[in-house]
Amino acid sequence: MILDMFSLSGKTAIVTGSDTGLGQGISKALVEAGAKVLGVSRSASTATQEMLGEENFSYITADLSSIEPVDTIINTALEKYGRLDILVNNAGIIKREDSIDFSVENWDLVMNVNLRTLFFLSQAAARQFVKQNSGGKIISVASMLSYQGGIRVPSYTASKSAVKGLTMTLANEWAKYGINVNAIAPGYMATNNTAALRADADRSEAILERIPAGRWGTPDDLMGAAVFLASSASDYVNGFTLAVDGGWLAR
Ligand code: NAD
Repeated sequence: MILDMFSLSGKTAIVTGSDTGLGQGISKALVEAGAKVLGVSRSASTATQEMLGEENFSYITADLSSIEPVDTIINTALEKYGRLDILVNNAGIIKREDSIDFSVENWDLVMNVNLRTLFFLSQAAARQFVKQNSGGKIISVASMLSYQGGIRVPSYTASKSAVKGLTMTLANEWAKYGINVNAIAPGYMATNNTAALRADADRSEAILERIPAGRWGTPDDLMGAAVFLASSASDYVNGFTLAVDGGWLAR
């Protein structure tokens, strides 16, 4: 039956950036659909665990600005749950500074978290899927700035545009293993990531005025797309970046 195709019962997932915001909403979606989730974040995902229960959600802390924790993350998921079916690359940061003054530090930090670690964690997950001979699902969180330039966010735009391209490359190479690689491009969502924008009355009003849905998105708005791309309902969806943006890109 069609709803059974969306079930994640018996599946296990890793979600990065699970302590707050969109990663918390995605973790909730996967658990509600039946999966067991290992969250990985800079700080402890205690609030997410309280919300979802220890039996469904466990977490570790790791600094994803380096690829050093990659093996530990995969091994912890295997120790806890015995197998791996889904990876959600959600952790990400943004640095705002005029491009003319942009620092090497803000370039490297954003590229490392948003792109470099995302690639090597995806590679490690794919190796595990191949070893299990099980196929698997990789979902990365892209952005409106995978499509548009933005202002004062050169490393963020570069990283998120690259996430969209890399999603296609990995999908092409790994479809033969039964691995689906896709991305979700959230629109303007009310989380820490956009706190500065929402605090700027002029920018906030301009953004809101352009969103056909007439409101900022919330972590819950990503739940349906996350479950779809994590489940067998999307087995023939490869390399696509799905916008969940209240119509922003359609304008
Ligand atoms: P957020 O700032 O609330 O969350 C960022 C997450 O990334 C946190 O869980 C944090 O722990 C994790 N993280 C950041 N640096 C890390 C590091 N060095 N090591 C480990 N974890 C680290 O913002 P959010 O809006 O929930 O962002 C989640 C993702 O969604 C990001 O990739 C962001 O770029 C993307 N995104 C957000 C929006 C939006 O409007 N909020 C829009 C498009 C894309």
